Amino acid sequence: MLNRRQLLGAALAGSAAYAAGAFVPAWAQSAPNFGTPTLPNPGFRRMTMGEVEVISLIDGIARRPLGEEFVKNAPIAEVRSLLSSQGLPTDYIDIPFTPFLVVAGKRRILMDTGLGEFGGATTGKLLENLRAAGFQATDIDTVLITHFHGDHIGGLRNKAGEFVFAKAKVLVPAPEYAFWMDDARMAAAPEGMKGAFNNVRRVFAQMPAEMLVRFEPGGELAPGIRSVAAFGHTPGHTLFDLKSANQNFVYVGDLTNVPALFARNPDWAVTFDMDAEAARKVRRETFQRIVAGNAMVGGFHFPFPAFGRMAVAGSGYAFEPVAGGA
Ligand SMILES: [Zn+2]
Repeated sequence: MLNRRQLLGAALAGSAAYAAGAFVPAWAQSAPNFGTPTLPNPGFRRMTMGEVEVISLIDGIARRPLGEEFVKNAPIAEVRSLLSSQGLPTDYIDIPFTPFLVVAGKRRILMDTGLGEFGGATTGKLLENLRAAGFQATDIDTVLITHFHGDHIGGLRNKAGEFVFAKAKVLVPAPEYAFWMDDARMAAAPEGMKGAFNNVRRVFAQMPAEMLVRFEPGGELAPGIRSVAAFGHTPGHTLFDLKSANQNFVYVGDLTNVPALFARNPDWAVTFDMDAEAARKVRRETFQRIVAGNAMVGGFHFPFPAFGRMAVAGSGYAFEPVAGGA
């Protein structure tokens, strides 16, 4: 028998609003008056880390007009001047979405899933780029999710209601699941957050029990891959730390939005950080640890190829992407 949640999910899946893509956050749509972002081609990049391969796979880029609200605690003039000092446009922000694939022996582990069929025209390219890199969705045995914002979980389930990575276990942080699946919290949430709660239900309410695995951050999720709590951006936001043959790769998810702003100024709060102070603290601690350990870093909203190193720059950090071709 279906429980209330499953009924809600079924009702959503059948509704016209669902078909029309009502779950697309406005910011994930590109603003046409600023032109169309150019997607990298090829849209994947391979890197060897010890005995495993890490592949960044771009899902797309959204171009968002830069407004006062984007950085909550800095004047827009300061934001613009930091962008222009790095040779970046000052009237809009390009936000890339980049999941990562870890190829380790027979394991195929995907970290985050992009917007799937629920974003604008310049997003939803993950499967295309996965194929270009030589993999099918059914090759994925494990999906690791950092947090439940739509650009990270949207690709798990398509508009037809199918689970895209049909053979995978989907591992999610337990505190993240508990927060978003709590009906009382959804009822109490401001109107602007209801879409995010609905989208979580669209993806997870009917997910088969044998597919979904909830984990407490802090343990090993796959050989050499540990989860690390980094709460703040969302209540259960979690990082993935990979070690192989003395090499270390840290996938930081949404520890920062675009690093040109929020790594350079770790104390700045992007509009999407749900607990700005917790996010600020964990951002500083994590970047300090990454620099001290000279780890490679991958970031979901980092510029392609979205992995490289962090270097101290002023009172913050600069992201230095790796050079070279695919
Ligand atoms: Zn995100």
